[in-house]
Amino acid sequence: MKSGDKQFAVIGLGRFGLSVCQELQQAGAEVLAIDIDEERVRSAAGIVSQALVANCTNEETVAELRLKDYDMVMIAIGADVNASILSTLVVKEAGVKNIWVKANDKFHSKILSKIGADHVIMPERDMGIRVARKMLDKRVLEFQELGSGLAMTEIVVGSRLLGKTLGDLTLCKEKNVQVLGFKRGPELIKAPDLNKALEIGDLIIIAGPSDILSRKLSTL
Ligand code: ATP
Repeated sequence: MKSGDKQFAVIGLGRFGLSVCQELQQAGAEVLAIDIDEERVRSAAGIVSQALVANCTNEETVAELRLKDYDMVMIAIGADVNASILSTLVVKEAGVKNIWVKANDKFHSKILSKIGADHVIMPERDMGIRVARKMLDKRVLEFQELGSGLAMTEIVVGSRLLGKTLGDLTLCKEKNVQVLGFKRGPELIKAPDLNKALEIGDLIIIAGPSDILSRKLSTL
């Protein structure tokens, strides 16, 4: 299914919520943007398919929005933790299957998971981790947490790996670690031959348990 076939709702149009809306809409998805604040809804109206003023801690209001017909609902309320928790509960009870919620800290995140949020994200923490990883190792272009303890990473082959094969890399021998693809020039090779000799500038795309990827990336 393409992103254009999916319907998303975003509740809370702060800087984070609005960026989510913008990116989803640009990818061709249908986006419903919701906020309790009229001014914020007005600023989202030019960006998304539909923007509405609503208080998502109110059960009847949420029922009228028919959010359970949406593929994913993002709750991006930060400053008001009570509103974030209550909205999550109300949206969950309205039968929404795939709920993403932004959390401020560990305790907020724990509560959200316990009341049924499917994905909890902490943007400042997650971005801090990604930036630090990039600062530590320029060979790692991207490190993306996929949820459930899994991650995906992109590695550029430098001089230390020249002449080695994918099969030589200890990272690729780890349990549940999978080479998803390999790129040399414009060509993307899916499920590449592990005996192929690496060249400088090759891009390796790997997925697996995030703790193993984190640990092994520094030994490459
Ligand atoms: P950032 O701007 O970095 O995303 P933040 O997460 O703290 O920061 P807020 O400024 O808290 O963002 O924005 C959250 C948005 O959620 C606000 O626009 C606020 O009006 C909206 N909001 C708060 N309570 C509700 C509610 N009950 N229903 C719908 N929207 C709400």
